Amino acid sequence: MTTDTDDPRAPFRRAMTLGTVPYYDGTRSTVTVDIQWTGERLSITGNEMHGRACVGGGQNSDTAAQARPRAEDRHTRHDIRRLVAIWDRWHLNDMRAGCEHQRAQGWHLQRIDPRKPSDTYAIHHPGQSRESWNLLQWVYPSEVPGGLMGVACPTCGYRHGTAWQTEEVPTSVLVTLREITKTAHHLTPVDVDGRYATTEESNR
Ligand SMILES: [Zn+2]
Repeated sequence: MTTDTDDPRAPFRRAMTLGTVPYYDGTRSTVTVDIQWTGERLSITGNEMHGRACVGGGQNSDTAAQARPRAEDRHTRHDIRRLVAIWDRWHLNDMRAGCEHQRAQGWHLQRIDPRKPSDTYAIHHPGQSRESWNLLQWVYPSEVPGGLMGVACPTCGYRHGTAWQTEEVPTSVLVTLREITKTAHHLTPVDVDGRYATTEESNR
């Protein structure tokens, strides 16, 4: 029996195996996600396991998007695509670098080096003095042409990256997440330490 609440905005935490992806040696690795909603903040992180070795993780939504459900999984490729879309759009909704206008124009999605995934943490341009995610929002225009850090919004004047902005996660997004993860492992939400707490909600 599920003990899921009727309130879609109530906190929840679920861990889910999305499926498998190709590994470089010709075998396949397994991608899992940990989805936490505290009532205010949505956080989604991934893990890629090859046997018992962790071979990737964090903000690896590009990899997760490639996952193929296993025979025993009850979700579909379509569910994975929906989950990844929510992940890319709403992860850390309370830590937005941009205002609503900058977000609407996709400032947070523009890559420094378009040949690499956005979640690569490295030097992407000779002008960079320190490593960053592969996104123009993390570099100044003085370092990298097109850098967006500190650049003013043409509409409201807010300087990109100078404060954390909160963007409320719509209830429809939470309803969709609950639906996609209804057969996932249900865990007790925890705020900071990232450890799995005791199972509170039963698996279905
Ligand atoms: Zn603005």
